[in-house]
Amino acid sequence: MPRRKIVDAWMETHNVRTLRFDFRDDPIDFKAGQFIVCEDTFRGYKRPVKRAYSIASTPQQTDFVDITIKRELPGLMSARLSEVPIGYEMEVSGPSGKYLYEPSRGKKVLLLGAGSGITPLYSIALYILKEKLPDAKVMIYYSVKTPDDIIYENIWPQMMQEFPDFQFNLTVTRARPEEWNGRHGRISSDWIRETAGDVSDAVSYICGPTPMVGAMEDVCRQLGLPEEQINTEKW
Ligand SMILES: Cc1cc2nc3c(=O)[nH]c(=O)nc-3n(C[C@H](O)[C@H](O)[C@H](O)COP(=O)(O)OP(=O)(O)OC[C@H]3O[C@@H](n4cnc5c(N)ncnc54)[C@H](O)[C@@H]3O)c2cc1C
Repeated sequence: MPRRKIVDAWMETHNVRTLRFDFRDDPIDFKAGQFIVCEDTFRGYKRPVKRAYSIASTPQQTDFVDITIKRELPGLMSARLSEVPIGYEMEVSGPSGKYLYEPSRGKKVLLLGAGSGITPLYSIALYILKEKLPDAKVMIYYSVKTPDDIIYENIWPQMMQEFPDFQFNLTVTRARPEEWNGRHGRISSDWIRETAGDVSDAVSYICGPTPMVGAMEDVCRQLGLPEEQINTEKW
């Protein structure tokens, strides 16, 4: 398994960090939505710890791979990755995974994510927008617990400005009215219908914790999407 150096790192929120791995000597070829596996040995554990992380950069960027990690409490690898310094090297394998986007799957794309589950959806959205596929329509519905948990918070407005057809919809589930003046509550079929109209011909990608993914599969069914158009990833 090749070792890859971390060449940059930055905080996205209070407990979410992005790491950038160097792939300049062997450019990566992957589909948006796929993941890499990071492996490291630490804190006296005899066996290496291995965890999957969705690629949070786009296939157009082949020299570097970004991953965005939410620190779990407790959590072995996520704690490690929230501390490793720039310059550190670790084993990285992949890309892997069948949860992926290709233009042949459809150009009207409904992306439903919660928490750190936004990472593959961000890659898919940015990939499609950068490719400038004719007739593409990208809609993200992103649910976070509190306003402090919005990953890529500064990037979404830039994407909306650069790509006027890109639709980004954010909802917060655990904020008091005075803490958040945007939308409150979970992602629902009514909300999607109100804001996006008929999406029964869209291909959907859902990513987040297991209960959220199950609920979003139901939402997609309520919206009339056939099963084969519903793709899920849970962690
Ligand atoms: C395909 C795929 C893609 C993924 N992509 C991402 C991504 O982009 N970003 C991301 O942040 N994560 C992602 N994950 C999740 C990631 O792989 C790890 O599962 C996550 O980082 C937690 O790993 P960990 O070693 O820190 O936690 P672990 O140590 O494995 O713990 C896992 C869970 O168990 C709980 N736990 C651990 N020990 C105890 C204990 N003693 N008592 C009670 N609870 C305990 C932890 O709080 C945590 O919730 C992805 C997973 C998959 C399968």
